[in-house]
Amino acid sequence: MLWLEVETRDGLVGLGETFYAAESVEAYIHTNLAPNVLGMSAIDIEAVHYRARPYIGFVGASVELRARSALDIALWDAFGKATNQPVSVLLGGRIRDKIPVYNTCAGYRYVRGPKVGATENFGIQAPTAADDYEDLHRFLNDPVGLAGSLLDMGISSMKIWPFDFSAEASQGQFISPTDLKKALWPFEEIKKEYGDRMQVSAELHGVWNLSESLIICQALDDIDVRWIEDPVFLTNPVGIQELKRTVRSRIAMGETRGGAEDFKIFLDTGALSLLILDIGWCGGLTEARRCAALANAYLTPVAAHDCNGPVVLTASVHFCQATTNSYVQEIVRAFYYGWYADIVTELPPLENGTITPPTGPGLGLELQPDFRKRKSTLSRSSRLGDTAA
Ligand SMILES: [Mg+2]
Repeated sequence: MLWLEVETRDGLVGLGETFYAAESVEAYIHTNLAPNVLGMSAIDIEAVHYRARPYIGFVGASVELRARSALDIALWDAFGKATNQPVSVLLGGRIRDKIPVYNTCAGYRYVRGPKVGATENFGIQAPTAADDYEDLHRFLNDPVGLAGSLLDMGISSMKIWPFDFSAEASQGQFISPTDLKKALWPFEEIKKEYGDRMQVSAELHGVWNLSESLIICQALDDIDVRWIEDPVFLTNPVGIQELKRTVRSRIAMGETRGGAEDFKIFLDTGALSLLILDIGWCGGLTEARRCAALANAYLTPVAAHDCNGPVVLTASVHFCQATTNSYVQEIVRAFYYGWYADIVTELPPLENGTITPPTGPGLGLELQPDFRKRKSTLSRSSRLGDTAA
């Protein structure tokens, strides 16, 4: 994880965040980004955003765009502190008070390893107590119990990825009838027990080729899932159009790509029912606003991704509160009730299946006071006047 603090001339500190390959993003920040933007006015967020646009690395959620995202989030936080307003107000004010959440059923250690984007990231551990949120283990072994425990918390929407295990065995080239039945089992069990009370989405993580993805999606059509996410890797518009020709379910995609122009290529297919964006990957709040406005022009809702860190989650909740076509927020309860609280002083309150932004100025949270002194924290700073490394 990478956290970026930007200090203004008045001594205000804004906090940003991004995820994956933190050391690479850090190197880019200090060797390229900081020398480029230090000394600019912190309130000219649009100008900084423009200056931070890379000449290469502008496509996808690149190191460059992740750095740009962390800086942009930090500037919005500082803007809120300078004006004593929450970020949601600065983004245009509330279109809704509370944002409904859905739970991504990961466990505490999910994607905490060094491997990027591969299924080795499962980090599966068995729950040791009834109130343990090892939800990945649970959806594979006790899906009905898991759905029941979410409903008890007021959460009526969840997302699971039982197909990934089979993809791993064949590099996504073939799903056997046995593996398909095994992967459909949690969806069927939850449906049988709870019917329409629990909405289940399927995450395919873009790990299947087109023909296997079609077989999976058509099987999911019969179960009435809420949406199918990343049925294929978001590489070409043709594959997605081809899927949409026969798949009835809603298709959700986008988080791995960054920026409005990038999203336009995929919105043009007409195949997206939901555009997923990650504020820590797509270019920060400035770019997320642009992406949402673009999606709205395509009559498409957006949803903010959270499977990364507490600052991006909080920025996302501010964004959802102020953005008409962003009506649902992803959470990972294993992270929210797990390690997120070790990092930051506040989290967006989560109650009865809905989430709201903290009420303080800016994002409304800080890194924990001892955060910098921890052995696990590596920090590096660039200041105006430093010669570029
Ligand atoms: Mg996803």
